[in-house]
Amino acid sequence: MNNFNYTKAESIDQAVSAVATQSEGQFIAGGTNLIDLWKYDLTHPEMLVDLNGLSELKAISELPDGGLRLGALVSNNATAYHPLVQERYPLLSRTILAGATAQIRNSATNGGNLLQRTRCYYFYDAASPCNKRNPGSGCPAITGHNRLHAILGESEHCIAVYPSDMSVALAALEATVRVTGPEGAREIPIADFHRLPGAEPARDNTLGAGELITSIDLPSTGFADHHSYLKLRDRNSYAFALVSVATGLEIEGGRIRNARIALGGVAHKPWRVPAAEAILVDKAPTPEAFAEAADLLLAGATGYGHNDFKIELARRAIIRNGMMALDPSTQRPGAQPSL
Ligand code: SF4
Repeated sequence: MNNFNYTKAESIDQAVSAVATQSEGQFIAGGTNLIDLWKYDLTHPEMLVDLNGLSELKAISELPDGGLRLGALVSNNATAYHPLVQERYPLLSRTILAGATAQIRNSATNGGNLLQRTRCYYFYDAASPCNKRNPGSGCPAITGHNRLHAILGESEHCIAVYPSDMSVALAALEATVRVTGPEGAREIPIADFHRLPGAEPARDNTLGAGELITSIDLPSTGFADHHSYLKLRDRNSYAFALVSVATGLEIEGGRIRNARIALGGVAHKPWRVPAAEAILVDKAPTPEAFAEAADLLLAGATGYGHNDFKIELARRAIIRNGMMALDPSTQRPGAQPSL
């Protein structure tokens, strides 16, 4: 049995201060991942700071520059079904709704979605070595069962993938994460929020100690006319991606003027390669053009045995999703395109 203290935060500053003064203090909002980690004996908070009373983090509001601010405590479902998200950022809405289940999305919050931990089987087995859970103990996934694992950006210390769907769309949209901590407030571009494992796989992101996510800001460009999220998985709901692709395009006169492609399920963070997007500019949106982009996105991809199939699957998914993005109205929720 783990004894712990519990406090209900009355302000952002009080929440930050309460966690910063405890070596094993943690924030809790929806709790959809934290409670799992606790039950599996992987985390042992001594102080839980409940954020659910912080109404200022529960709003979705328009920004003066034409963007949209998503409060950190807005639920994933409330975000996906918000009229402004559906109208201006349908890529984000579709991507959120591809994740988890309706019940989980009703509890899970936007801030918590960014912080969910890998679903590596060995990470969740407290009896296994794991460099992410117990630094220096080893990585059994490299020579073990690694069907879900990374093909890009991995290290000799960890080949885990980051499981969020929502963050793949946020990467394609170039969102900004706003945080407040003991040293004050700051903004982190989503590309710099999650990190590759390197020699420190225990660190999933670049948050400092005691820092709290307060919102996720979306820029004005939402790719509402041409976008698609393709999530390939073992079953059609309540499953993490083997490979996923979020694509946003701006098209004028039959040519691509701006392109974003982010991959999920392949690395320790959403995977983007700016050169792969730049090569599409001024080209007609054809399978051949997206194949060129796929070659750049997947340059250096490495399989570890059970996950070798992901390299070809990702290539086909990038091409297919590029073509699907041309007419989002043809995409049905849950549709499984042939590759
Ligand atoms: Fe642990 Fe990462 Fe290896 Fe999984 S892949 S066992 S999370 S070190």
